[in-house]
Amino acid sequence: MTAVPRPVDLPAELLHHIDGKSVSSVDGGTFGVADPVTNQEYGRVAAGEAADVDLAVAAARRAFTDGPWPDLPARQRAGVLNRIADAIESRADRLAELETFDTGLPITQAKGQAHRAAENFRYFADVIVALHEDTYLVGRKQVNYVIRQPAGVAGLITPWNTPFMLETWKLAPSLASGCPVVLKPAEWSPLSASLLPEIMAEAGVPDGVFNLVHGIGEAAGAALVAHPDVPRLSFTGESGTGQIIMRSAAAHLKELSMELGGKSPCVVFADADLDAALDAAVFGVFSLNGERCTASSRVLVERSVYEEFTEALASRARATRVGLPADPATEVGALIHPEHYARVLDYVEIGRSQARLVAGGGRPDHLPEGNFLAPTVFADVAPDARIFQEEIFGPVVAVTPFDTEEQAVELANATRYGLAGYVWTRDLARGHRVARAVQSGMLWVNSHNVRDLRTPFGGIKASGVGREGGAHSVDFYSDLRIVHVAVGELPAPRFGAAS
Ligand code: NAD
Repeated sequence: MTAVPRPVDLPAELLHHIDGKSVSSVDGGTFGVADPVTNQEYGRVAAGEAADVDLAVAAARRAFTDGPWPDLPARQRAGVLNRIADAIESRADRLAELETFDTGLPITQAKGQAHRAAENFRYFADVIVALHEDTYLVGRKQVNYVIRQPAGVAGLITPWNTPFMLETWKLAPSLASGCPVVLKPAEWSPLSASLLPEIMAEAGVPDGVFNLVHGIGEAAGAALVAHPDVPRLSFTGESGTGQIIMRSAAAHLKELSMELGGKSPCVVFADADLDAALDAAVFGVFSLNGERCTASSRVLVERSVYEEFTEALASRARATRVGLPADPATEVGALIHPEHYARVLDYVEIGRSQARLVAGGGRPDHLPEGNFLAPTVFADVAPDARIFQEEIFGPVVAVTPFDTEEQAVELANATRYGLAGYVWTRDLARGHRVARAVQSGMLWVNSHNVRDLRTPFGGIKASGVGREGGAHSVDFYSDLRIVHVAVGELPAPRFGAAS
């Protein structure tokens, strides 16, 4: 097969980063990591266990109690965050190269994600400078005010899709809020995180404030969730993992933010700008290799344009360029891991028995090795089919017809997920109606997956708990306290008076 460009200077072993130092696991354990094009091991990664998590949490805890990070004025922390963004920007090409090699994401898309990672830090630098604490004057005799304090050590557990961007989406608000962190990246995509220690050091983040523990979810991740000195746990990953985490976190009544799976509908009415809807549907399910939580993986189309739209979607799927991730012409690269690839192929087989395959359905002929799948379109998918109900997390889309607005909404809501939704119609009133009726945390009308970072990102139903973005994230990492001060003489308290 075509030679795969291997990034130069790949580290032979990826280490934890605890209290400002790169360290191996306490027990010396490692696990192997492979790239998704050759599926050959390219390096070893320190396998964190409870003992490593204990050291990292202890370092973060010291950084919390001894300072100075939690007590720095917002403007100073913002300065450090902006320097982190600069350090990311100056490494954007390297980050994209590593991410593409490690995850199979097409290089052009990985570059976009690297710049977005820098933007996450710049954005939260602005948020904390603009934050104000509320003060309420109650008559002339009382003042109430709200103190916002960093909550303590934050545990951050992230998935393998767009790993660096999602790591920074949690790091930026937790650090901005004054919380020292322990990050546990996904075990299938540890490479880009290995640049974080030098990025943090260059920006002047004090030792102990940023800690990184690699490892398998059930070991390092579970230990972080169960740790009593981690009052905030932000997790992005599968809904099933979220359930396990919630059970474990209950022991300490830990506050959780959970961004979970999705099976988001794209509802196309006959009166829509069908070309624009088609562009968005193709982008929504095939960009980022379909490994996108907000993927529009169910396309619901009004019957009068159903055949025409389905055929157009199939032909766009066939024209999508699947190729080596490092090739700038590639639109769909390699899926992350052979295990995930096998899982997606299983869904394709299930789909063949339950629906009409109109595009893709297997490995492209020109890519005999690696985790490559031709963008796949199934038509006439019934709502009880598994490919309608279950998150596939690959370039596979289920297309289903509907007759009425009511039926469209019913179909849109007929899964356990509620992350995102997309509606295409020229009838503005209907757009608003459907936006209210579809059960999801986020809904785009005549638009694709864009959003202002101030808005609350997250899902309902099995798609998540809590919201991330802007002040919502900063609230999560903060303890809010009200202080009440009498500034005049108050009447003596009376039993039975309202408080
Ligand atoms: P995953 O749940 O398998 O793993 C996510 C992280 O959790 C990894 O770091 C893993 O090591 C860790 N983990 C696994 N088991 C654990 C346990 N018992 N305790 C603690 N940590 C554990 O998810 P994944 O396969 O890496 O990611 C894909 C999933 O993430 C998809 O379902 C996708 O929709 C979801 N996702 C959601 C969003 C969102 O914002 N809603 C964004 C991206 C991805």
